[in-house]
Amino acid sequence: MPTFVVKTFGCQFNELYSASVIEMLERAGYEQSRTLDRVSLVVINTCAVREKAQEKAFSFLGEAATAVDASRIIFMGCSATLDQERAKRIAGHEVHIIPGSAGIEEVLARVQAIAACAPAEPMVPHSLFPTADIELVRGCESYCTYCIVPRARGRESAADAEVVLRQAKDSIQHGFRELLLLGQNINRYHWSGGGLIELLSALDRLDGEFWFWFLSPHPAYFQRAEVQRLMQLEHVEHHVHLPLQSGSDGILKRMNRRYSMADYDALAGAVRSDSRWTLTTDIIVGFPGETDEDFEATVAAVRRHQFDGVFLAKYSDRPGTPASAMPDKVPQKTIDERHSVLLQVVRDLSLQSNAAMVGGSVDVLVLTAGASGDTFGKSRDGRNVWFEDQGRLSHPVGSFVRVDINHGSREGLYGICST
Ligand code: SAH
Ligand code: SF4
Repeated sequence: MPTFVVKTFGCQFNELYSASVIEMLERAGYEQSRTLDRVSLVVINTCAVREKAQEKAFSFLGEAATAVDASRIIFMGCSATLDQERAKRIAGHEVHIIPGSAGIEEVLARVQAIAACAPAEPMVPHSLFPTADIELVRGCESYCTYCIVPRARGRESAADAEVVLRQAKDSIQHGFRELLLLGQNINRYHWSGGGLIELLSALDRLDGEFWFWFLSPHPAYFQRAEVQRLMQLEHVEHHVHLPLQSGSDGILKRMNRRYSMADYDALAGAVRSDSRWTLTTDIIVGFPGETDEDFEATVAAVRRHQFDGVFLAKYSDRPGTPASAMPDKVPQKTIDERHSVLLQVVRDLSLQSNAAMVGGSVDVLVLTAGASGDTFGKSRDGRNVWFEDQGRLSHPVGSFVRVDINHGSREGLYGICST
């Protein structure tokens, strides 16, 4: 049986595309391999958001090129748009390159041609069960000055709402329990029925037992009234990921984020009006020109909003972005210091948020069933939950359960299933 390896770096989009490729190859009789040894095909799905991720992808490409012939390697995703010459230098001219701007139909068609397998319809991959990832907006035209995504992924396009609703309905009928809608700036979604919130309202009216969530909203394109409408929906998960990036108005302006701290506070305040809802964010430390005062403003904003979770990134210079040409680069040592100061604050907040749940109980969607009776899932407000499952596998993946919480750590909650 021919074998293959798919290596995935980066975001949820890459996870979705890789899962679709894996599903197509498996249907064609290929088997996934743990090692590069004698595989028929290697697919490397790359990220370029930070230098480190990009370097890892190229380094894996080098590893693959020593194990298999270049004509058996597919290099796809953001780094494949940006540095095709380097990919060819590393692996040889025969390497197949699929740029990050290619949509899933194109990716599947290219892989199908290379692997000589039957065509596949883009559909929700089963390996993501119980979560159905659905692409709403492809590409990005928001042009945050630090970000490579608009160059790597190309122009924005919105999925057909009828297709989205059909995919959602089919997924629920096939037992999927969470719909995860994706867009780099998902608030840019538009269709004949309106925008994102109208589509979410239409999804909310579907029959069945399911939750839905979406990534990533952009504060400049999200209205307070829309947040309030969102929070009225029946099937929505009770958490919002609202990337702040910096707490300083001056830095936000130079990041081209198009909102002020006051705008952000108003949106976040709407989420916080219901104490059951959690709020998470992304922060970049060390953007060019970030002063001590700017950094302090970010720390203050993080403390003020008491984020339940923060993805903290050190600014990474991406060649070709406007920020990369800005003067006053922050020295790496200062970036590292600021990162560790903020990391401590962020960790304390996560612990505090989870510790506050002890003694209560939460609704959980089971994501993986542990072999030793330790089951893992996601609470409706987006937390990791590990719980003891008295009879092993009595709550299979995709079940909704109630868990009594007896411990909270930085990483999540621990408890005992009471259903
Ligand atoms: N479209 C999403 C995610 C984009 S990339 C959004 O706008 O939120 C995910 C995160 O990576 C960003 O939110 C940002 O915090 C971080 N990021 C993007 N470019 C970066 C860079 N050059 N250096 C460091 N972090 C970066
Ligand atoms: Fe990058 Fe900004 Fe687009 Fe997010 S919204 S992908 S940070 S340009």
